[in-house]
Amino acid sequence: MKTSDAWSKLQEFRDYVGENCKKCKFVKYCEGGCPYNAIVAHKTPQAVDPQCDAYKIIFGEVSKRMNKEFARSAFGLGAPAERKEGEQFSIMDLAMKP
Ligand code: SF4
Repeated sequence: MKTSDAWSKLQEFRDYVGENCKKCKFVKYCEGGCPYNAIVAHKTPQAVDPQCDAYKIIFGEVSKRMNKEFARSAFGLGAPAERKEGEQFSIMDLAMKP
């Protein structure tokens, strides 16, 4: 398998992401997005997922909400309120879910 064309494209994608995305603060979560989407959309493994801009917006919003909720509960900036019936789960509720 390591000698297959698919494997070498995946490795080429990973190498590209390692260089192209190294300064992105979301790289640990995203890792360049979906290799298939990147390679098919750009017709080369030297590309990232075309949803890069959307990922940055989504990860940025999740990080912002998570930090806000964490600070509120960890530093006493307001204890986490009891969730009411039918109320949406917070990011911290989902992150701390076993
Ligand atoms: S959000 Fe964009 S720049 Fe950041 S790791 Fe993902 S593909 Fe790379």
